[in-house]
Amino acid sequence: MIDKFSTILLDMNDTFMFGADRFGSNEDYSIVYHQLGGMMESVRVNQLIQSAYAYLDIRYPDPQYRESFPSLREAFVSVEGQDSLSEMDLELLIETFARHELGFVPPEYATAISQLSQRFRLGLVIDIWAPKTLWIETLNQCGVFSVCESASFSSECGIVKPSPLPFLNVLEEMQVNRQDAVVIGDSVRRDLGGATAAGIACILVGGAKHPSALGSVANLIDI
Ligand SMILES: [Mg+2]
Repeated sequence: MIDKFSTILLDMNDTFMFGADRFGSNEDYSIVYHQLGGMMESVRVNQLIQSAYAYLDIRYPDPQYRESFPSLREAFVSVEGQDSLSEMDLELLIETFARHELGFVPPEYATAISQLSQRFRLGLVIDIWAPKTLWIETLNQCGVFSVCESASFSSECGIVKPSPLPFLNVLEEMQVNRQDAVVIGDSVRRDLGGATAAGIACILVGGAKHPSALGSVANLIDI
């Protein structure tokens, strides 16, 4: 099914990174924030992070923001209320948010990606809300970044899936025709939706199934 393609565009969260997005109602963000040296009270820290999360969460599926998605910094500035945040606190809040957003890459997934890179050219099409720094570090550490030729991060370009643009931009950077590429991702709406809008085939992983997909496999390792 996959051998006719030269290039794979990979989604990240729940495709090869897991345990991301720890933003449940019981999270105490002040722990990370205070470890980073922040001085604000815990209640205010938790309230600000929850508000910034809610600000982005409501906009994430809204087509109106698909190609002008606000940055995390903009979210904090919009929800900060009357006592405005110092630049230092803003940066600490963004770093705290990023650490709760970041997941981990299991070694067997890093190995699978390395093996895929021997047969296919690889690109990454990634939706994250915090700036990409922490992900670049993590993807470098597990060896994923070095085997991928191009990567799109939504927090850098302000465009979220299912816009076709991040997929097309990565292909353009790699100089690959859309018919030679296949997207692999776990989300019917974002990955299959974005791939279809871009005219690229898509294989779903993680249990998702859809008649428009080229196929479904349990996980990336099985590919
Ligand atoms: Mg995903």
